[in-house]
Amino acid sequence: MKKQLPDTGIIVPGHEATVTNKGGYHFEGAFSTIVPGTPIMDDEGTLRGVTKPRYMVYVHSYGGEALFFEALVRDHKLLATRCENSKCPGHGMMYLPYRSHCPDCGLKMTPIDMTELAYNEAKVYTFVVTERSGAYNTLAKPIRFIDIEFPGIITFLKSYMILGEPSIGLRVVPVFRTDPTFTIEDLAWVPEGTKPEELPEGWTFSALPSDDEDPANAYEGVPDKELVRMANEGDLEARQEIFFRDCNE
Ligand SMILES: [Zn+2]
Repeated sequence: MKKQLPDTGIIVPGHEATVTNKGGYHFEGAFSTIVPGTPIMDDEGTLRGVTKPRYMVYVHSYGGEALFFEALVRDHKLLATRCENSKCPGHGMMYLPYRSHCPDCGLKMTPIDMTELAYNEAKVYTFVVTERSGAYNTLAKPIRFIDIEFPGIITFLKSYMILGEPSIGLRVVPVFRTDPTFTIEDLAWVPEGTKPEELPEGWTFSALPSDDEDPANAYEGVPDKELVRMANEGDLEARQEIFFRDCNE
């Protein structure tokens, strides 16, 4: 008799793990758990092996990209970054996916709120619809993966559509999960013109800022101007201070 292999998606009660940050990171609970395995028999009932399930809690630090996820989850905003270093060959370049530091000069970049631009101008650059997924997939199939292009941004954002069918050049707008997972899956896209009542449960549009609110001022984390000036002039200590400030935040 063949034995059923255990479902790798099961939750092991009593083996929760938590990480708190009070004067340094503290890890509590079970981060690696061994649970009893299941014998593997052949058709004649002869023992051929055993399953050895191990449950691991993977800790993913967001580091300098934490601001992006915080804005996504808390404020339903989409942040990009821009290099403000006038001596950098990539000066003025904007990046989405969010990257904290410039790939050309290594200095910390400035967060820019792209939410309104996304609602007005984001388009599908290319797409793929897949019926199959890798391990641990949590998205409903078929998954409609899209690469999104924004004017002025030199990178493509990869995401997925939860309504409608993708096509090249399709205007899409972002939607945000109301019960967040604190991952990039909290961001998805729907065709422009989708009405709020058409959204699946658990998803919302962003509440866009009013005209008198300057979205550029809404986020901290921009390096001190004097520090940036010194770094631009080649001051190694200033460059290091900007570079390492993420590690201390
Ligand atoms: Zn730069």
